[in-house]
Amino acid sequence: MAAAAGPEIERLIALLAKLPGLGPRSARRAALALLKRRDQLLLPLAAAMSEAGERVRACSVCGALDTRDPCAICADPARDMSVICVVEEVGALWAMERAKAFHGRYHVLGGLLSALDGVGPDSLRVKPLVSRAAEPGVREIVLALPATVDGQTTAHYLAERIASLPVQVTMLARGVPVGGELDWLDDGTIAQAMRARRPA
Ligand SMILES: [Zn+2]
Repeated sequence: MAAAAGPEIERLIALLAKLPGLGPRSARRAALALLKRRDQLLLPLAAAMSEAGERVRACSVCGALDTRDPCAICADPARDMSVICVVEEVGALWAMERAKAFHGRYHVLGGLLSALDGVGPDSLRVKPLVSRAAEPGVREIVLALPATVDGQTTAHYLAERIASLPVQVTMLARGVPVGGELDWLDDGTIAQAMRARRPA
């Protein structure tokens, strides 16, 4: 089937279709929306992307994305230097920041251990984490990793690697979500919440 649009537009659509959450159909709609709103959307977006591509880098301390290195969080003297929260990816860091529930610093692993996908400790930022955990003044490492098999395997591996250091290793509690009705929850969540119960 011949392409309906010119090669430039087809290329735009093909690139958009690689974005998470966008299939070929929604990529086509997005491309059309961009082309229709050239001055309000397409050109500002192109400029923002070009600037991000040039200026955004991974922080050499924690692995977060920022235009400066160390990033704004690592460089902020008001953050608690004694706690490091370990997350899988930058998206999880952003979620923690949105929740405003953590005031320490982060460590982005860059993935999870996975025997199936051949991801070992050397593919992740494990060694830099162990070095940071050994720094004076660090008291606690919070493992905020997903409640999946790979997430928990990674958490246990990291806990073992850090075990010999004089830091406390903690994990996020699992349980009933805020606003969660018990009869809508899966069995695993209910069982975890029951095991992790605390005095009322
Ligand atoms: Zn940083």
